[in-house]
Amino acid sequence: AVPLVVAISTAVSAKKGLLIRNRTAFENARKLTAIIFDKTGTLTKGEFGVTRIISSSSAYTKDQVLATAAALESNSEHPIAAGIMRKAEEMNLKLSEPRDFQGLTGKGVEATLDGKKVRVVSPGYVKEQGLTLPENSFSDESETVVFVMVDGALIGFIALADEIREDSREAIQTLKARNIKVIMATGDNETVAKAVSTNLGLDNYYAEVMPEDKQKIIKDLQAQGEFVAMTGDGVNDAPALAQANIGIAVGSGTDVAAETADIILVNSNPRDIANLILFGTATYRKMM
Ligand code: ADP
Ligand code: MG
Repeated sequence: AVPLVVAISTAVSAKKGLLIRNRTAFENARKLTAIIFDKTGTLTKGEFGVTRIISSSSAYTKDQVLATAAALESNSEHPIAAGIMRKAEEMNLKLSEPRDFQGLTGKGVEATLDGKKVRVVSPGYVKEQGLTLPENSFSDESETVVFVMVDGALIGFIALADEIREDSREAIQTLKARNIKVIMATGDNETVAKAVSTNLGLDNYYAEVMPEDKQKIIKDLQAQGEFVAMTGDGVNDAPALAQANIGIAVGSGTDVAAETADIILVNSNPRDIANLILFGTATYRKMM
């Protein structure tokens, strides 16, 4: 039999766009000692605006750098893709049709465009290829930078900026007041991660994290005796959501993430996540 209070609170929370798939995990909210948040679209709005477009090849104008990237991004659902597409539309750029589009998990996208192999990728990917990042791609501003590569050569980069959600600050204070460590894991670069972490007063952060590393971060924390919740929104996050003591799939998310999570939250607002944890604690207390 399902305890009445639990049944009621499950029903109530569902109305707010919250689905508790694993009640035991939810009731374990009281044991929580650490929570790992995603950055993009969770602690930040996930609405990127293009701040700079730089060509680093004499063969390409800025517009061509943007058009090349946008042609690929029309196939991607990443918030970075949306920012690049919006800019290309504003500038009325004509885009070629990509072929053999492929996502490079946690690193970017690639496709064939006008017979050439094109990639729009993270700084980490560029370094992996043995290429040097252009000096002007580093900035004090917390910019997310993606690089455009054609047939293995760097043709330029696009810098974008996202904003911190106002609600993140309050949510983090609520959690920290409960002695829950608040940690961020992001695929984005060190500069951006550090800026967001400092701004929000996080206990720790991990930058340039590959999807498969998220699971290891959780395992390591668990080995140190932490009881860990984690939020995730992508297919990539499924192993980490499964590893976490409480896995929370956020946002419209992908089905894979939702299938692995203990809790599904339609809204990815961190305030709802903080409330949910307090709610889980309260529900358990009432049952006693
Ligand atoms: P997060 O959700 O923490 O921002 P992701 O794993 O989604 O991290 O992405 C990590 C990095 O991979 C991004 O910061 C970006 O450099 C690159 N990337 C991911 N998807 C795309 C895309 N569609 N276009 C360009 N770059 C991308
Ligand atoms: Mg992501």
